[in-house]
Amino acid sequence: MTDRLLVIEDDPTIGEVLTSSLQAQGHEVVWERTGHAGLAAAAATEFDLVLLDLGLPDLDGVEVCRRLRRQQIGAVVVVLTARATEMDVVVGLEAGADDYLTKPVRLIELHARIRAHLRRGAPAATPSTTRTIGDLVIDTAGRRVTVADTEVVLRAREFDLLARLAAEPGVAVSRSTLMSDVWDEHWFGSTKTLDVHVAAVRRKLGAARAGADVRLP
Ligand code: CA
Repeated sequence: MTDRLLVIEDDPTIGEVLTSSLQAQGHEVVWERTGHAGLAAAAATEFDLVLLDLGLPDLDGVEVCRRLRRQQIGAVVVVLTARATEMDVVVGLEAGADDYLTKPVRLIELHARIRAHLRRGAPAATPSTTRTIGDLVIDTAGRRVTVADTEVVLRAREFDLLARLAAEPGVAVSRSTLMSDVWDEHWFGSTKTLDVHVAAVRRKLGAARAGADVRLP
């Protein structure tokens, strides 16, 4: 099945290049030039991945990202940013982005990242397996997590991270192992992403039940 990508980018040159190169990779691409148009497109139909520019004329890309998540859009969100500071990246990830790429973007890197995300996003063909650690229950087939019978809503990568850690309870897992297992070999970015995701998982589990019995690095 063809993957559907939404590009939200106001720069006509970059938008053209992204759209045509992603189409050439076999993706179906919808290109919107403003934050509001992008949000409307995402609300109207389902996309597998959103490529989101942060510098938009009407809404800040970080705000667009927040609203996408508030709308319960399940798509992978990859932020494109010319703002390379770590703070911006962290703000973007906390707003709900799954990944980020710094402009100018190398197309070969962009394609590799998108392929990696889409592969990971595909529904698992594995039989149902449930792992129970204390009162933490992880259903890897249904991708559901409960703590003390309270459902914990995790984003895709947060779930992958938790599932990876839970695969070997009590065992310390190195940053590089987590990056390669959860973000796979196409990861080129900062491990700051890992910190943000670990913090989010901790927060959500903690909110579901104070002092959740999970060891995170
Ligand atoms: Ca822009």
